[in-house]
Amino acid sequence: MGKKASIDFKKCDNKPYCGAARACKIKALYYDRELESVQVDSFKCTGCGNCVVACPHAAVTVQ
Ligand code: SF4
Repeated sequence: MGKKASIDFKKCDNKPYCGAARACKIKALYYDRELESVQVDSFKCTGCGNCVVACPHAAVTVQ
C-alpha cells in the first residue's frame, strides 16, 4: 500500500472550512458534516501531500 494522509486530531481544529480539505482536489480529505470531523478516504488518497502543506496546524502527515 502507498503512502496515505493521516490526521492528528490533537492538532486538527476540525472545522468545515478546513484548508487541507480545500487543497485536496479529489476530495480524499474532507469535512464530514454528519461525523462533524475531518476524514480521509484512504481508497481515494494518492499521497500527493497537498493537504500537508495546506494545513495551518500541521495536523496532516503523509506516511
Ligand atoms: S495526500 Fe493528496 S490525495 Fe491524499 S488527502 Fe492529501 S491532498 Fe488529498
